[in-house]
Amino acid sequence: MTETKKREYDRIPCPICGHLINRWDLKEHTFAERWVLNRIQNEHPEWKEENGVCTKCWEYYRDLPPRTGALN
Ligand SMILES: [Zn+2]
Repeated sequence: MTETKKREYDRIPCPICGHLINRWDLKEHTFAERWVLNRIQNEHPEWKEENGVCTKCWEYYRDLPPRTGALN
């Protein structure tokens, strides 16, 4: 039982896509480039950077063309 619990602690779902990732994976990306974080927050207002994001989502928002949809 403790083994399962430990695994759950190490692997947490990405708050954006639900993909299971390592906690340390998550953290590593949150501090890299702030403008990517801002993009994520635009689409997911409830998301906080301490929630983290998986590599897949990170790359998605990083590679997103500037000006998708919201033109202010
Ligand atoms: Zn994700």
